[in-house]
Amino acid sequence: MSKRDYYEVLGVPRDAPKGEVKKAYRRLAKKYHPDLNKDNPKEAEEKFKELSEAYEVLMDVGKRSQYDRYGHEGLHRTFGGTGFDWSNFSHFGDLEDIFGSGFFSDLFGDISRPFGGGLLEEFFRQAARDTYSGPARGRDLRMDISVTLEEVAEGAKREVEVPRRVTCQECKGTGAEGGVMTKCPHCNGTGQVRDVRRRGFSQMITITPCTRCGGRGEWPADTCKTCDASGVIQETSRVMVSIPKGAYDGLSLRISGKGESGELGGPPGNLYIVLHIQEHDLFQRDGNDLLVDVPITFTQAILGAEVAVPNFSGNAKVKIPPGTQSHSIFRLKGRGLPDLEGNRRGDQLVRFIVVMPKSLSSDDRKRLKKLGESLGDYTRDRRRTPVSNRDE
Ligand SMILES: [Zn+2]
Ligand SMILES: [Zn+2]
Repeated sequence: MSKRDYYEVLGVPRDAPKGEVKKAYRRLAKKYHPDLNKDNPKEAEEKFKELSEAYEVLMDVGKRSQYDRYGHEGLHRTFGGTGFDWSNFSHFGDLEDIFGSGFFSDLFGDISRPFGGGLLEEFFRQAARDTYSGPARGRDLRMDISVTLEEVAEGAKREVEVPRRVTCQECKGTGAEGGVMTKCPHCNGTGQVRDVRRRGFSQMITITPCTRCGGRGEWPADTCKTCDASGVIQETSRVMVSIPKGAYDGLSLRISGKGESGELGGPPGNLYIVLHIQEHDLFQRDGNDLLVDVPITFTQAILGAEVAVPNFSGNAKVKIPPGTQSHSIFRLKGRGLPDLEGNRRGDQLVRFIVVMPKSLSSDDRKRLKKLGESLGDYTRDRRRTPVSNRDE
């Protein structure tokens, strides 16, 4: 099928000025608008497109002279290999003038219309896709909780209260009383606002999502009383948190789906629980090792003894040899904290501190004096070197 001559399509002479071309287009566009040709919409749509193609060319000085010189061939490059389509059309503003602003919203808002499945709609759909992101994922939440060293050693379950925004169940997140929606009055249900700016012979169409309805095109018929039209309510949820054995300070636990609810049916965000490990009065933590100070008497240190050493898993008896120095550190393999990754445990480091009696009976004093004389100065050899804290 050969293409018809553009002048012929619009029924204007070859030297017709723009005003005359415009008048012709206006007349024919009304005649062939698919909505006004309901018994033969397909043919009308094709006619309408043909008219618009001719209009696009004859209203543009460059395209028109190209066409005048080389015919349809001359526009091959302009419209791309596939020929004219609605994305090449730059006179939607004129269509709006002709048919009123409802033209586009009807087109876009109601797919059941015969013109609805057409290319023009596809053009706007594409434009809408480019500007409007659709359902949004809910926000992630972060909560900081304080954890004891006992909980780190044994692992624990903890119920935390999370204040968060969730979908209003009354209106199913629509913000509308009973979920009943109507066309957004601001964008007339299109979900977008068009701005047409003319620049010389061409025009710029910018399409932005409607700020009132956020691009949905819908607006609550009546305000939902429960959520005051926001679609979300503030709620405090109880969430079970498993504190893993061996958790360290700053560890972040992800609880998926327990963040804030998504908008417009988008997925919920995640909840992140950040752990802070409390200081312990008895134990000091060094990685997976546990350090503990255990006091001993000077006689235990001198004579050797069996001493009870505390641990989260109960006391252990530790034998210290005769002559144990104060601040000696003993390593108990595998009695530290469990490893977060596996079953390996750290060690327990026991530091024995010799504690001197503060008061003595006069009998003990005499006996000790005697003992002191018999021992002599046994520290003589160590005076010259600094006293080490550790017994290597
Ligand atoms: Zn709107
Ligand atoms: Zn509601």
